[in-house]
Amino acid sequence: MITFQFGPTSFAWEDYDANHPVVATLRQLKTNFPELQIIPKSESLFRRIVYWTLLILTFGLFKDTKFTTCAKNRIYLSDSDARLFKAYLPSIIHMVLRHEEVHLGQIAYYGRVEFYLRYLGFPLPVFFAWTRAMIEKPAYQAEMKAAWECRRDVTSDNYKEQWISKFYGKTYAYMWRHTKTVEKWYEEGLRAITSG
Ligand SMILES: [Zn+2]
Repeated sequence: MITFQFGPTSFAWEDYDANHPVVATLRQLKTNFPELQIIPKSESLFRRIVYWTLLILTFGLFKDTKFTTCAKNRIYLSDSDARLFKAYLPSIIHMVLRHEEVHLGQIAYYGRVEFYLRYLGFPLPVFFAWTRAMIEKPAYQAEMKAAWECRRDVTSDNYKEQWISKFYGKTYAYMWRHTKTVEKWYEEGLRAITSG
């Protein structure tokens, strides 16, 4: 049995899971971010306040608990991710954590203020939010690699469509509308996987 504790959240893996790539991911997070806590948003008073504030400001349109987000040394899980984490689905946990690990590194590199300013988007907050796209691109490429390590078919048309739609669709407020560029980022992610 291998156990990892991240703040209030613990992961305990039976022996048959010991070779799953998620174990290396958890170990690496523990080493690189020793203060890290993984917290379901619904269990954080601070995130409850953020949830209600954003819900009121956007007239009920933006539900913060739908998104997993990061802060310094914190990963706040969306309601659906929290359910999947509690069900110990190692492949999902691996993919989510590899994505969020990139953001934790970006927050450490840019500092919190610059990270969130970049996240708001420049030159525009929607359609051409280049700085937000540049934050999500490496995170989704890392997630793609994690999916591939979990033997998901990342070359399928379905996966590709889902991947690029994160950038041009509503998930991230129509972050980057030039689909040809996003397709290039997808191909770049695939090349990184095949080149090791
Ligand atoms: Zn992200």
